[in-house]
Amino acid sequence: MEEPCTTLMATRGCPGRCVFCQPIIRDLFGNTVRCRSPENVEAEARYLRDIYSVASVQFADDSVPVGTEWGDALCEAMKRAALPWAINCRVNSITPPVVRRLAVSGVCKILFGIESGSDAILKRLGKQATREQNRSALLSCRDSGIHVRASVMIGSPGETEHDLECTLDLLQQTRPDSIIVNFTKPTPGSRLFRQFGNRRAGRDDWNESFAKLVNTAAGGLGIDPHKMQKLAARHSSDVLLCELPRDLLESYRVEMLNCACNPPFSGAA
Ligand code: SF4
Repeated sequence: MEEPCTTLMATRGCPGRCVFCQPIIRDLFGNTVRCRSPENVEAEARYLRDIYSVASVQFADDSVPVGTEWGDALCEAMKRAALPWAINCRVNSITPPVVRRLAVSGVCKILFGIESGSDAILKRLGKQATREQNRSALLSCRDSGIHVRASVMIGSPGETEHDLECTLDLLQQTRPDSIIVNFTKPTPGSRLFRQFGNRRAGRDDWNESFAKLVNTAAGGLGIDPHKMQKLAARHSSDVLLCELPRDLLESYRVEMLNCACNPPFSGAA
């Protein structure tokens, strides 16, 4: 991203049903995706460019709805604004014509939450996307010259070594420009948190950082922080949601990070 860079938001909400995220987004923003007019976004982009000499913008939207009439109009608007832009979006909205429009309009970077290369895990996470859609989106964006950033989750419930191999293989096949690998955690308010909470009830190996996270999220969602803290007291951010040993996950994490065209590091996590 060219500097100086700043953020803007064009939409609120996401139609996705990922279990580690929803219904938080719906609780915060409602059941529909609300979009600003492309002209209004263009005016803000021009303002940032002309008044603050901003050289690029990162759209902070959870998921920019590309491949829609609104998405096409946004591409035209950003092309007129002549400002490179970066977005987060869902792989199932990506087709070769959409990628071409994005590239021509100045999209310089796309982040995809691909999460896994295993169809079984994608289904379990409620991603509404397949390994093949992940593969195709990563490759078509890379071929167009857009910087592709892939975000992966490991340690998801029910994940096996075979699932991790599938993810590693996908990253080796597609070689994103950059990769993020996160351990799957149950964010308070998410369906995963509810499932995880029930499964882990009674454990006392919780830690303070998790309690803090819960309190922050509870405040944001208008939930009684005392109730949430009691719930948090039964769980831990260190507790893995899958049955695999942590050191095995750590070694896969390093291997996955090294699949990036510019690996961030090669040492231990
Ligand atoms: S696509 Fe992203 S923002 Fe939408 S539900 Fe899934 S994780 Fe949440």
